[in-house]
Amino acid sequence: RVKERGRGNFGFYQPQMNANLLARMKLEHAMRQALGRHAMQVHYQPQVEMGSGRIVGVEALLRWTDEEMGVVSPATFIPLAEDTGYIVTLGAWVLEQSVMQAAHWARAGLSLVVSVNVSALELRQADFVERIAKLLQEHRLPAHCLELELTESMLLQDAQEAAQRLHALADLGIALAIDDFGTGYSSLAYLKNLPIDKLKIDQSFVRGLPDDEGDCAIVSAIVHLGQALKFTVVAEGVETQAQRSSLQSMHCSHYQGYLCAAAMTAPDFEQWLASAQPALSPFQSM
Ligand code: C2E
Ligand code: MG
Ligand code: MG
Ligand code: MG
Repeated sequence: RVKERGRGNFGFYQPQMNANLLARMKLEHAMRQALGRHAMQVHYQPQVEMGSGRIVGVEALLRWTDEEMGVVSPATFIPLAEDTGYIVTLGAWVLEQSVMQAAHWARAGLSLVVSVNVSALELRQADFVERIAKLLQEHRLPAHCLELELTESMLLQDAQEAAQRLHALADLGIALAIDDFGTGYSSLAYLKNLPIDKLKIDQSFVRGLPDDEGDCAIVSAIVHLGQALKFTVVAEGVETQAQRSSLQSMHCSHYQGYLCAAAMTAPDFEQWLASAQPALSPFQSM
């Protein structure tokens, strides 16, 4: 990145660049120590079925609170982890935590799908599918209780290899979701060729509901596309009742967002569930 600016500019930008580089190195150093210091946690955000209000699943979201820096946003450290390759270590940890948690909930009689974000570099690891199969087996988690969230752009890089991995994951019985749908650079062709189960409408389109005509048109189009291809469609980032009603009138079947709840620790989620109306609970009726 430094080189891209060209020689001529180097002297001029140097102090700022050094400061940025130093901050980045410091952040990376702290990130690499965070797991060992128990400074990272997986939080879980509920996903709701629109009509019934039932909690059908949770998305696992990584949280990091550094001793010095305080809360560091995933928007800051995930891209850094992706650039440096450390995402493979972080991702493996999130997957293990999530599978263990999902297995615990499954044994407790909760019918929940736990959804985990996966980065491109993780999917490209030769042993990715094998590791997931092993995790499921070790923790005796039924595969249908696990879902992986991928982004559109991931499916374009090494498309053939990615397709092969996705089919292998689907063969295990794991559900696959496309995250931030509508924001990536991609063709739609992959939707009919890949074993996709779910589209997550990016929150940038949800934000403008119900007033922004463009957002309404895009969300409605994604819902129709999803229905026609028999995918579940989840709206992300739903914060207001007006957004929820608008989505419901467009027949969007599921949502996720602060209107229901933000991501919480597993114990907090359990408590939150217990205090919710029984009708909304995912406890399986026997
Ligand atoms: P994402 O997968 O699209 O996750 C949804 C993000 O929206 C989360 O941000 C969530 O906290 C936030 N969110 C949920 N409901 C609302 C709402 O109503 N309003 C608003 N404004 N935001 C809402 P978060 O946790 O900061 O994560 C940001 C991104 O970092 C995630 O986007 C995901 O791409 C990435 N990420 C987080 N955890 C992991 C992980 O374990 N592995 C990987 N590879 N990426 C992760
Ligand atoms: Mg996600
Ligand atoms: Mg998203
Ligand atoms: Mg995202």
